[in-house]
Amino acid sequence: MNRIGDYGENSGPVAGVTAPVPTVTASSGSLRGDSSLLGGNAPLPDPDKSDSAVVPDPQYVNGQQASGNLGLYLDFNNANPPQPVRGTKGATDPGPRTYDYEKLNPDLFAPPATDTGDMPNSMWPMGLSHNRFGTGDGAGWARQQNTEVLPVATAMAGVDMRLGPNAYRELHWHTASEWGLIMKGCVRVSAINDEGQSFIDDACAGDVWFFPAGIPHSIQAFEEGCEFLLVFDNGGFSEDGTFLVSEMFLRNPLEVLSKDLKADLSAFDNIPQNQLYIFDGTPAPKNISEQNITSSAGSISGNASYTYHWSQQAPFEVPGGSVKILDPLTFPIAKMFSAALVTIQPGAMRELHWHTTSDEWSFFLQGSGRITVYAAPASSRTFDFTAGGVGYVPAAQSHYIENTGTEDLIVLEVLQAPKFTDISVAQWLALTPKQVVKDHLHLPDAVIDSLPKEKTLLKPGNKNLTALAGNGTAF
Ligand code: MN
Ligand code: MN
Repeated sequence: MNRIGDYGENSGPVAGVTAPVPTVTASSGSLRGDSSLLGGNAPLPDPDKSDSAVVPDPQYVNGQQASGNLGLYLDFNNANPPQPVRGTKGATDPGPRTYDYEKLNPDLFAPPATDTGDMPNSMWPMGLSHNRFGTGDGAGWARQQNTEVLPVATAMAGVDMRLGPNAYRELHWHTASEWGLIMKGCVRVSAINDEGQSFIDDACAGDVWFFPAGIPHSIQAFEEGCEFLLVFDNGGFSEDGTFLVSEMFLRNPLEVLSKDLKADLSAFDNIPQNQLYIFDGTPAPKNISEQNITSSAGSISGNASYTYHWSQQAPFEVPGGSVKILDPLTFPIAKMFSAALVTIQPGAMRELHWHTTSDEWSFFLQGSGRITVYAAPASSRTFDFTAGGVGYVPAAQSHYIENTGTEDLIVLEVLQAPKFTDISVAQWLALTPKQVVKDHLHLPDAVIDSLPKEKTLLKPGNKNLTALAGNGTAF
């Protein structure tokens, strides 16, 4: 008997697992078989002597055998190995697979029974994106999510960018508008607008910038480097498709450059011969006023400012966590970018809701969570997320974000809307005549009477997500 493949986990030791392997009985040296192996010619196999697809002694995690409609979060981290079973449905998996994917995506592997129909994928981990390195040594990198990898995300795209100490994202502009959240470190940003007004500011982790389409800008890290998240208002946007100052100089006749900048041809002897992209720079002077240059039009400030020091806004505390909103009501230059930074405690969730006219692009900054997307008329799917993951929910489709981990979940929701708003399911039912709600859903009076007339944003919950599997309570 020769092994012709290696079934089961493709690498790494997993206690207690003996993966069945397919076998062959012949040991011919020929590359192909012959017509004697065709069905009808070949001898019948004996199932009793062939491979078994039986998985001996499968192990199930807490909540896995509870009703599929209950849809409890299944923690597969200690499952050896996880099995695609929920309630009475599904079956063990004796075949080839990589356990880590399934441990990270229990709701794809063993979906709640409420997940029905065809739904587009709504999840992309930045950890699966190609990382493009900067041109300078240690200068940085960027990886992106757009419709190439997440086709449903048509309205927004995202980039995760790292700049090393004093490194630049080179002077550039693009056809999409850019909203940026600094995740680590500090930067100096500069830009000018089409009125000839200039802008320069320093910003640190938790702060936001916005550059409208076509506005040229630069970003330089301070000496400890930085990492930031960019969101663009075009799902097909590619970070590799930006207009670069280096390329613009390379793509015009030197005679024209000489005339345009009123300089001798020799002045262009040392211009870069390749794009700079992300490259090492000289340290920015501490005193920002040394770099503040203005025309007669003056500088950009106040409501026209391209930055918002969001880190200095205190979170709005609610039971289950906290929320901070940044939208054009307070950051007017970012006309259609409305964001919520949501901290969700273990067991709690961002309440069931939808956004009336905007898609939602979300980014998981810390922890782990899950989202069920419901699409009209009768489909839904549940997706699991961990830090560095992008989520996407099309306009009007209902969703929640449940913390499935043991630490606070921090997630950013970004809309293309002039104001951050949502329709809360609980508030909707609270503000609908009681008789109407009762006639539709047959909920007990006590439940309808206690629905919150004010929006709560989050719902606290039991840290034990499988408590309902027994006689416990979920909240
Ligand atoms: Mn940019
Ligand atoms: Mn939302």
